[in-house]
Amino acid sequence: MPIYAYKCGACGHAKDVLQKLSDPALTACPDCGAQAFAKQLTAPGFQLKGSGWYATDFKNSGSAAPAPAPTPAAAPATAPAPAATAAAD
Ligand SMILES: [Zn+2]
Repeated sequence: MPIYAYKCGACGHAKDVLQKLSDPALTACPDCGAQAFAKQLTAPGFQLKGSGWYATDFKNSGSAAPAPAPTPAAAPATAPAPAATAAAD
C-alpha cells in the first residue's frame, strides 16, 4: 500500500497518509478542516522504489504467463496499397 504525502494549502499542515490505490484522495485537512488538503506529487513511498521495480515486475509477469501466438489472419498482408494505383494517372 503506497504512502501519499499530503499537504494543506490553507495552513501548511503536512502528513503522510497510507492509502490503497483505490481509495479516493483526501481533501479535508485533518488539522484545520479546510478543503485544501492535496496529494503531493513527490510521494516518498514511490521515490524509494525507483523505476527498477516496475521493469522487474513487468518482466516476471511476461515470462510466467504463456503469450498467445499471434494469428496470421490478423496481419494486414492481403490489403493492397491504394497509393500504388493512385499514382498511375
Ligand atoms: Zn489545514
